[in-house]
Amino acid sequence: MNVVIIGGGIGGLCLAQGLRRAGIDVTVHERDRAPGSRWEGYRIHINPVGARALHACLSDAGWQDFLVTAGPGGDFGFLTEQLDQLVIVEESIMYPDGADPAESHYAADRATLRRLLLTGLEDVVQFGAEFVGYEQRPDGRVEATFADGRTAVGDVLVGADGAASRVRRQYLPHVRPIDAGAVSVAHKIWLTDEVRAALPRLGTGMNIVNVNAPCFLFTSAFEPPGGASRPYLLCALVTRPDVLPPDLTELDGDALRAAVDVLVAGWHPQLRRALAESDPESRNAIAFRAAEPGPPWPSTSVTLIGDAIHLMPPIGGLGGNTALRDAHLLTRLLTAAAGGEQDTLAAIGEYESDMREYGTAAVRSALAQKEQALSYGVVATAGARTWFRLCAAVPALRRRTFGESYAGPAAPRPWERELAMMRDP
Ligand SMILES: Cc1cc2nc3c(=O)[nH]c(=O)nc-3n(C[C@H](O)[C@H](O)[C@H](O)COP(=O)(O)OP(=O)(O)OC[C@H]3O[C@@H](n4cnc5c(N)ncnc54)[C@H](O)[C@@H]3O)c2cc1C
Repeated sequence: MNVVIIGGGIGGLCLAQGLRRAGIDVTVHERDRAPGSRWEGYRIHINPVGARALHACLSDAGWQDFLVTAGPGGDFGFLTEQLDQLVIVEESIMYPDGADPAESHYAADRATLRRLLLTGLEDVVQFGAEFVGYEQRPDGRVEATFADGRTAVGDVLVGADGAASRVRRQYLPHVRPIDAGAVSVAHKIWLTDEVRAALPRLGTGMNIVNVNAPCFLFTSAFEPPGGASRPYLLCALVTRPDVLPPDLTELDGDALRAAVDVLVAGWHPQLRRALAESDPESRNAIAFRAAEPGPPWPSTSVTLIGDAIHLMPPIGGLGGNTALRDAHLLTRLLTAAAGGEQDTLAAIGEYESDMREYGTAAVRSALAQKEQALSYGVVATAGARTWFRLCAAVPALRRRTFGESYAGPAAPRPWERELAMMRDP
């Protein structure tokens, strides 16, 4: 079997690692000119879904490399905009099986993760390969064409080309991302001693700053183990598009700062200052979009993984983890097909059937979390805060209120549970 993967992002590279590990011929075609030729963004939260996939697909050395380079995921806190602590949800509530590294959660630097995912694939990843279209040949194989005229032929073509996927546009043109009704301005704040002293809770784990306004601030500390690089705090201010300038995604760092300043005007001065003094180069606005995989389609030798088929707002940190889950499942099923245990189209059909279910659930969960986090009003905010404080005081209530919202989307699918049992019977 020969698999052609379009897109060398998180999902495509994890799939390539898994297939390579299983001895299947694979090539990855990535539009970027070279690794590191574009800014990779901030840290990414890897939950147990992603950890399981990385553990299964990476070589043993690659998995160890992940464990030594990823920072701790940490507890999840809720604070007011005056930095009063409402509740801290412990990791043991979020991910109860976290003692097993493959069932735990991490904050991983994206550039480091991509480097790690590329390791060992140097001979199969082609950079500067912009996919433009494919053709299904009469012999059942698929031929992909690239902007420079090159072609690649495989038994299976996997579109892992992200949110604006050209593979999806050709294969499933009815699956179209729609505006998800929220925008975010992300900031990187270097975690200096001064910042840690000014924002002690925000300097650790993940947090949400809950406000009586149609916005919230998500924060996540990235602490590279062993001081390998500079620690930083990712802060993403999420709001409704009508609250910020319509050309938000075109604004430069200074203009974004001015737009955010207005929204955070009444917030704690230390937090306002940290946002205003964040690294201007790293300020970045995005408009959230979403797409569900939709109803079943007849499976062919073309399939899709990751944002290409289930795009969701980055609220709840599910997009990348779901892309990794796709890579994990597809590796498992294509390996079975290559070994003659299953027909290739049946394997793709089985992947698509499960992916549609958990992918749709993840998109809906991210959209629901967005709705909930952007709802506001004096009564709603006071009610939520009272509830958070009650949860802080009563551990059983905290477990009941928050356990499911983290552990639910990360709960193993039956096939993941089987693998976990094989790992640790
Ligand atoms: C601000 C922000 C924070 C986020 N935080 C989290 C988080 O904490 N946890 C989480 O799980 N998810 C998070 N996500 C979502 C996550 O980043 C995505 O879901 C994930 O990157 C999807 O992986 P992918 O492989 O499907 O696509 P991508 O990672 O986007 O990779 C697609 C690749 O395809 C390439 N490509 C595109 N078009 C072509 C073409 N025509 N030809 C060849 N190559 C092409 C691109 O260059 C890219 O390398 C976040 C997203 C954002 C925006």
